[in-house]
Amino acid sequence: MPKLRTNHLVISLLMILLLLVSACGNAPAAEPKSRAKLDSNAAANLTVKVLDVGQADAILIQTPKQAILIDTGDVGTKEKLVSYIKKAGITALDKVIITHAHADHLGGMAELMENIPIKQVYDSAFPATTATYRNYLTTVQKKKIPFSRLQAGGSVDLGDGISLKAFAPEKEFIKGSDSDVNNSSIALKLSYGDFSMLLTGDAETESEELMLKSFRADLKSQVLKSPHHGSRTSSSQAFLKAVAPEAVVISVGANNDYHHPHPSIMKRYQDAKMKIYRTDLDGTVTITSDGKTYKIAKEK
Ligand SMILES: [Zn+2]
Repeated sequence: MPKLRTNHLVISLLMILLLLVSACGNAPAAEPKSRAKLDSNAAANLTVKVLDVGQADAILIQTPKQAILIDTGDVGTKEKLVSYIKKAGITALDKVIITHAHADHLGGMAELMENIPIKQVYDSAFPATTATYRNYLTTVQKKKIPFSRLQAGGSVDLGDGISLKAFAPEKEFIKGSDSDVNNSSIALKLSYGDFSMLLTGDAETESEELMLKSFRADLKSQVLKSPHHGSRTSSSQAFLKAVAPEAVVISVGANNDYHHPHPSIMKRYQDAKMKIYRTDLDGTVTITSDGKTYKIAKEK
C-alpha cells in the first residue's frame, strides 16, 4: 500500500508538472498580446483631455511622467474636476497653469489645492483684484507651492520630448480692450514630434494680433482649443489662417448665457473645413498622440 501511495503521488506530481508545462507552452502565444499592449501604450504617449466642465475651461495633459492641468473650470464643477483627476489615477499634479483670473478658469483651484498635491503653479501675474484671485494667491503661498510667471517666449518642459511654449501674454499687458483680463490669457503651443495643439485660454483679437506679430511662423498647429469658448471676439480670420488647424475643440456649456459659440465663428471654422468638437455636445474630448499622428475621441 505505501508503495501504491507513492506511485499515486508520483503520478499526481507528473500531472501537475504536465499542467505547468502546458501552461508554459501558452507563453509564446501570449507574447504578441503583450506586445500589442505595449504598442497601444506607445501610441498614446501624450493624452490631452478637454474636460467637460460646462461653460469653463479645464484641460488635462498626461505625458509618460507628468500630469499637467491647464485651468480648473468654474466653482460649480470643482468636485467633478477633482474626481476626474483622481479617476485618471493622478495622485499629484506636476504643474497647474492658470491662463487668466476669470472664475470659469480659476474657480476650481481652491478645491483642487485642498485635495491634490500640486508641485508647481504658473500664471500670467496679471494684477487681478477679485477675491477668488487673492484667495488663490494666499493659498499658493500658505502651501508653499512654487509659483512662476509665464509669458510670451517662456516655455515649460514636460519631458519625453513634449513641451509647452508660451505665445501670450506679452510682458506689457494689453490695456483698454473689451476684456484686458481675457487678453492677459496665457496661450501655449503643446508640441510633441510632428503633433501640436494650440491652447489659447480666452485670448481675444487684440492678443491674437500680438501673437501674429511675434510668433506667426510658429502658430501652425493641428488642433486648436477655440479661444474664448468660440466667442465672436476671438478666432479672427488672420489668426485662424496662421494656425491652420485641422480640428478645433470648443470648451462650452450647453445653453450658456453668453450664446457661445457664436454662429459666425462656427461658420468660420466650417468654411476652413475644420473638424469641430464641443464639450457641450461631445462631453470630454480626448486627443492622443504618439508624436507622429493623433486621434480625437468623444465621450458622448
Ligand atoms: Zn472663459
